[in-house]
Amino acid sequence: MTLLPLRGKVGMGVGWSWHRLFELITSEVLNMSSLPSRYFIDLTQPEIAAQFRKNPLVILPAGSVEQHGPHLPTGTDIYASNVIGHAVAERMDGLVLPGGPLGVTPMHMPFEGTITLTPETYQRVVVESCESTARHGAKRLLILNWHEGNIPSLAIASEKLHRDVGMSVIVVQACYVAAELYGHDCGGLTHGGEIEALAVLAYRPDLVHLDRIDYSSDHGHGRKWDRLRRTRSYQPVLRDIKTIAQTGWYGAPEHATVDKGLKMLNDIAGAIAKECTDLFHLLDEAQGGTAEIKHLKVAG
Ligand SMILES: [Zn+2]
Repeated sequence: MTLLPLRGKVGMGVGWSWHRLFELITSEVLNMSSLPSRYFIDLTQPEIAAQFRKNPLVILPAGSVEQHGPHLPTGTDIYASNVIGHAVAERMDGLVLPGGPLGVTPMHMPFEGTITLTPETYQRVVVESCESTARHGAKRLLILNWHEGNIPSLAIASEKLHRDVGMSVIVVQACYVAAELYGHDCGGLTHGGEIEALAVLAYRPDLVHLDRIDYSSDHGHGRKWDRLRRTRSYQPVLRDIKTIAQTGWYGAPEHATVDKGLKMLNDIAGAIAKECTDLFHLLDEAQGGTAEIKHLKVAG
């Protein structure tokens, strides 16, 4: 440890005291060793406290528990956002929050293997989880989502976390980033298709059963409905997944491999980390950074 950066910090007007000096030395020592994991629930209280002082960035993976055909686990969406969230956290020096695996997915309820929350419950889980970390010093929040059914709830929750709690917030639809980068090569983003298989292969290959691929719904029909529901201007409300895919899924994940999954993970995480680093800087410049958080802490 060199004392040079430490002196710099003390001299930055934070108010010098032995207590403060001890805190800084402790955090410098802890920061010297890299964290054993980026997952919040893997770490100890002192590790988290030091990390919040070093970089107050938290990443909330958002996903869902729902049927994904005979070849992928029901946790596909949350596994995808967890593993990408961790890779982004390594690149941006952040922590991955435990947001829970569940999301809002009434569309998949006709099939066993699906558990849904109501939008109201989900919003409260998101807001209260993130607000807890804000009380401990987290200031920047990246919500990384891999489930389209969560999008409206996350829009409302993230607005609240910015306006009421004062966090600087970005929501990234990681499944759409994947579609932009790998859609042309993987038959687009389809429920249970190659992109989703790759995401799980990059994390838990033991849960992917390519030998059990069976009864994919018609590709042309699925693509037509996915295109219709993903336009910006018109949003048809669908009752259940069978409108898109009669059997619950469609796609062609036969050629997915662990290597391709790891490459996709690396590419998606790199793209998200780069874009979000720039966006957080722009938000700081445009919105005065994290001043509102300081106000909240004084008031609370
Ligand atoms: Zn999925």
